[in-house]
Amino acid sequence: MKKILAFALTAAISAGAFAQGFPSKPITLVVPFAAGGPTDLVARQLAEAMRKPLGGASVVVENAAGAGGTIGAAKVARAAPDGHTLLVWHIGMAATASLYRKLPYKPLEDFEYLGMINDVPMTLIGAPKLPASTYRDFENYIRANGGKLNLAHAGLGSASHLCGLMWQSAVKLDKAMTTIAYRGTGPAMNDLIGGQVDVMCDQTTNTTAQIEGGRVKAFAVTTAKPLSTHKLLKDYPSLQEMGLKGFNLTIWHAMYAPKGTPADVQKKLNDALLVALKDPDFIKKQNELGAIVVTDNRVTPAGHKAFVSSEITKLKAAIDAAGEFAD
Ligand code: ASP
Repeated sequence: MKKILAFALTAAISAGAFAQGFPSKPITLVVPFAAGGPTDLVARQLAEAMRKPLGGASVVVENAAGAGGTIGAAKVARAAPDGHTLLVWHIGMAATASLYRKLPYKPLEDFEYLGMINDVPMTLIGAPKLPASTYRDFENYIRANGGKLNLAHAGLGSASHLCGLMWQSAVKLDKAMTTIAYRGTGPAMNDLIGGQVDVMCDQTTNTTAQIEGGRVKAFAVTTAKPLSTHKLLKDYPSLQEMGLKGFNLTIWHAMYAPKGTPADVQKKLNDALLVALKDPDFIKKQNELGAIVVTDNRVTPAGHKAFVSSEITKLKAAIDAAGEFAD
């Protein structure tokens, strides 16, 4: 009996031992897209909000862009499972599971799920030079001129790629536009403003300030209903209202650690994430850009994983219908 007790005690101590010295160096949030885009933005705001609950630890962002986010995700899947290298990624975690026949990681097996961060609508936007000011004008213009236009996205499997695919398939304009892949929608936005590309669908966290500043034209939001409580985005119709039955696309961001990260380290990270998600400054910054910080059970590791698993199933149907593979 004594032996069993002693063993149980040692096991309990060693299970808790990892978190004691954690973090022992800066924590890196790997963003699988270029700097300046919406995934980068949420990671930087989160890094700021998680610093305090992690005892003042330094939390830095590293951009590991390419292949629609799969390069950065693979990097984290292979990183040391000690809690110091984490992934902040979006719906691509679910979309790439169907878009890529070969992935360098297994979405549901190679990560510890730490919790979800936000839900973000998307906006269909165009270069300022486009001769359209309403969604109707825009759709008609693309019907007539699609072959001459470019659609920017952040790589195969990215949110902007997914949205572009789904929109073109919903309006039966499959592959009307030439697609141009960037390493993130930060750099793509610069080219859209400059008129080197014509159309993009991207998270409101990247587009709101540009729409407000008149640097791009906005035509519609991708949520089922218009964003009636947002001071700027409320003025744009939803694609459903414009006749695209059932169109409803919201992007979400979440945080992951490599598989095998000690349970107590995962708990420490999830606790810090929960504090950050209640930080009034973080919530305000997100809301101003049209995003909603997650408050339901998807902030728990189990809720997060169950949600991603259901998104994989849901997106598979949409991606199969669009008939596209990335590889
Ligand atoms: N918004 C991008 C996407 O289309 C990625 C990014 O730069 O955050 O997936």
